Amino acid sequence: ASGPIETDAVIVGAGPVGLFQVFELGLLEIKAHIIDSLAYPGGQCIELYPDKPIYDIPAVPVCTGKELTDNLLKQIEPFGATFHLGQEVTLVHKREDGRFDLETSKGTRFITKTIFIAGGVGSFQPRTLKVDGLEAFEGSQVHYRVRSPEQFAGKNLVIVGGGDSALDWALNFCGGNADGNPHKAESVILIHRRDGFRAAPASVAKMKELCEAYEMQFIVGQVTGFEAEGGALSQIKVTGGDGVTRTVPLDQLLVFFGLSPKLGPIAEWGLALDRKQIAVDTEKFETSIPGIFAVGDINTYPGKKKLILSGFHEAALAAFAAAPYIFPEKRIHLQYTTTSPKLHKVLGVE
Ligand code: FAD
Repeated sequence: ASGPIETDAVIVGAGPVGLFQVFELGLLEIKAHIIDSLAYPGGQCIELYPDKPIYDIPAVPVCTGKELTDNLLKQIEPFGATFHLGQEVTLVHKREDGRFDLETSKGTRFITKTIFIAGGVGSFQPRTLKVDGLEAFEGSQVHYRVRSPEQFAGKNLVIVGGGDSALDWALNFCGGNADGNPHKAESVILIHRRDGFRAAPASVAKMKELCEAYEMQFIVGQVTGFEAEGGALSQIKVTGGDGVTRTVPLDQLLVFFGLSPKLGPIAEWGLALDRKQIAVDTEKFETSIPGIFAVGDINTYPGKKKLILSGFHEAALAAFAAAPYIFPEKRIHLQYTTTSPKLHKVLGVE
C-alpha cells in the first residue's frame, strides 16, 4: 500500500454540511479531503429525501434534496477537494507532532492538521437480517451489498427484500438486465414479507414476468432460521404468511433491507459526547480534542437545532477557528466574496 496522504484538513461526512465545509475552508485557502461511507455525496438529502422539496434554505425558496446537493457540489468545485467515497472513517488518533492519523475501512490513511466531523446522524450501514447465528456467514455466504457480482455467477441465490436494490439484483442475476447478462446465476429466489414492493414498477413487472416464465421464483415470507452443513450455510427457513415454515436450499444469501445510520466508530475516538452527539463550543465548534471540529447534525450545544442552515453557519466559524492550526503565523481577516480580489482569485471568478 502507498503511504499516508498528508493534508491540512479532512472532512468526515459528505452531507450538505460537510460539502459546505469544503467551501468555507476553501475561502481561507485550506485544501480538504472529504470522506463518506456512502458511494455518493449528499448525506440525508440524497439517502432519505432526494425528491422532497426543502423550503428553509436562505434565499432558495424551494429546492429538492438532490438539487441542494448538486448546487453545493457546483459551489465547491473551485476548491478541488478530493472525494474518498464508499469508505468509512474508522480510526482517528492524535500524533505526538500534534497532527492526527486517520484511517478508513478501505485502508486509505491520512496525516492531517485538522479534522471536521460532519457525520450527521452517523454513517449509513445496511440493515441486517436478524436471525441468531446467521452473522457467522457474513461475507462468505450472507451479503448486504454486492461488491463483485461475478462471485454469484452460476450459484443458487436467495435474495431478500422488497426495494429497488433487491429487485435490481434479482433481475440482474437472473438475466433480466440488458447488458448481455454476464453474471447469470443458476437459480434466483426472491423473498419479501409481503406481495407489495417499494421499487420501480417496471422492475416489479419484469420480475413477475420472469416468475411466470419459471426463470425465477418469488416467495412471500420471512427468513426465520437456517441450517448449516459442514460449517456452510445450506438452507434457510422461510415462514410464509400462512404460518407454514418451508426450507429453501441455497449457495448464497443476499439481503437488501436498506440503510440505517449508526454513529459507529465516531463513538470511539475519545471525544466528549452528550447523548450520542459530539459536544462543541459555539465560538469555534471545536470538540474536546483541539484540532477536531464537529459541525451539522452530529454536534450538540445549548440551543442546537438540527437544520441545514445551522450547519452552514457552524462550518463557517469552524473554518476560521481551524486556520491558526494550519497557518500559525498568518492573521486571518474576514473578507467579502463580493468585493475581495483575493477571494475572487481563490474562487476563480476574476
Ligand atoms: P448528514 O446529511 O447526515 O450527512 C452525514 C454524512 O456523514 C452521511 O453521508 C454519512 O454516511 C457520513 N458519515 C457518518 N459517519 C461517517 C464515518 N465514520 N465515515 C464516513 N462517513 C461517515 N433540514 C432542513 O434544514 N430543512 C428541511 O426541510 C429538512 N427536511 C428533512 C426531511 C427529512 C425527511 C429528513 C430525514 C431530514 C430533513 N432535514 C431538513 C434535516 C437535514 O437533512 C439534516 O440537518 C442535514 O442532512 C444534516 O447534514 P449533515 O451534513 O450534518 O449530516
